[in-house]
This record gives sequence, C-alpha cells and structure tokens, in this order.
Amino acid sequence: MNIPRLTLIGAGPGDIELITLKGIRAIESADVILYDALANEELLAYSRPNTVMVYVGKRLGKYVYTQEEINYKIVELALQYGHVVRLKGGDPFVFGRGFEEIEYARAFNIECEVVSGVTSAIAAPASVGIPVTTRGFSESFWVITGTTKTGDLSNDIALAAQSTATVVILMGMSKLDKICQIFHQHGKAQMPVAIVQNGTRKNVNYVIGTIQDITQKASLQQLSNPAVIVIGEVVSLHPEYIEAYLKEAISIKQV
Ligand code: SAH
Repeated sequence: MNIPRLTLIGAGPGDIELITLKGIRAIESADVILYDALANEELLAYSRPNTVMVYVGKRLGKYVYTQEEINYKIVELALQYGHVVRLKGGDPFVFGRGFEEIEYARAFNIECEVVSGVTSAIAAPASVGIPVTTRGFSESFWVITGTTKTGDLSNDIALAAQSTATVVILMGMSKLDKICQIFHQHGKAQMPVAIVQNGTRKNVNYVIGTIQDITQKASLQQLSNPAVIVIGEVVSLHPEYIEAYLKEAISIKQV
C-alpha cells in the first residue's frame, strides 16, 4: 500500500522548461496527477506509464469539477493510490487556491508538500522583454487579481493606481475597461500598459499601449485569456513603446 500524500506543484507559466527539477521529480513519482488547463500537458510525459491522469480544468468554458469536488477527489485518490500530484499553472500559491487544497488534505492527515513554480505574473512580461522592476523605473510590483471572490474588482487596484509600483493584474481581461477607468481617474491616462497572452509559450501574443488606448488595441489584436496586464513605467522600456510613443514625442519637440 502506497502512503497517501499530496504534492502541489507549480507547472510554470507554459514553457515546459520553466518547471523546477523538484517538480519534474514529483511528476516522475506520482501515482495520480490532477492537472489544470494552464499547466502544460506536455509535462505529463514525465510520469510513469500507469499514472492515473485527471483533468480538472475547464471544458467548453465550464469547470469540469468545482473546487470542493477537487478537494474531495485529491483525498479520495490519495487514499486509493498513494502519491497525488496536483499540477497547477504558474506558482501554486499565486491565485491558484493551492492552500485550500492543502488545508483540506491535511484535515485527513495526508502529508502535503508544495513545490513552488515560476509565476506568470513575472514570467509572462519577462517573455516579451518587460521587467517588473528596474532601477529608476519601479521600486515594487503588485500582483492583483481582476476577479475576486465576489466577482467585483479588487479595491487594491485603486490603491495601486496611486502608487509608482508596477501593477500586474491576473484574470483581469474581462474587466480591462474598468481597470483603465480607475487609472484614468488617478491621472494616469498616459501610463504605459502591456498585455501579454500565452506568455513564454510559442503562441505568445502581446500588445503595448497606454491606459488611454490599450482597450482598443487589445480588441483589435483579439487578445484574450490567459493574459496578464502590466501597468507601469517599466513598460516604456519595451522597443515597441519607444517606437510608437517616445519617437512621436521627440519629433513633436523638434518641430
Ligand atoms: N498560479 C498562476 C495564476 C493562476 S490565475 C500563476 O502563478 O501564474 C490564472 C491567470 O494567470 C490567468 O487568467 C492569466 O491572467 C494568468 N496566466 C497564467 N498563465 C499565463 C500565461 N502563460 N500568459 C499570460 N498570463 C497567464
């Protein structure tokens, strides 16, 4: 009988090489793997041939299982098979409900371990050349969810809009308009913004703009989920920003 245990692994942002060695080793020793839509499925190839695979992400836009069902499933499968690996996109403790799964499993005396992952909050902007901090541009960064428990926008966005921090918003695409309005209200209409979809993946797509024009640009380029919204001066370091906005400013000055 295999000892029941749970390992929560960050699969990284999409590029399969951005998982940790510890993560791969856990996949190799898994009896069961429960994986999300955002975890790259190619990682499953590192498992043993008879590992039980359970997809718990969305299908046709709807979740196959509720969070409560996933929690229960983890426990049920650990007791039945032994080592359950829970593979989550990015880092399991960044908006992944990872801690809830651990708490639930621990209540059944199941041993739990967390293997951190590379979060899309940092890696998606980095994959198109945007740093979340840079000396002289930003001294901190906020990672905020666009989708809170109640479905409303987080008040933290309005607070962050008043700071000089880089603001990275996850799960925010459906509220892009509202987010831009908030920055507008705080006098940041010209603040540089980038949206990065499928960061670190081969099909990465992104757009660079400002609070004023990003909504229109994003819809023209048909950007959608999964995407991160990056708002802050660091975006002005991107060559496309320099090309589109700074050259314009320089030529206006010269006239
Ligand atoms: N735990 C994850 C985040 C889960 S929330 C992490 O650390 O990355 C899901 C959100 O993450 C998506 O809606 C999107 O905003 C973001 N995301 C995940 N993978 C992404 C990727 N490859 N490119 C851009 N955004 C991504």
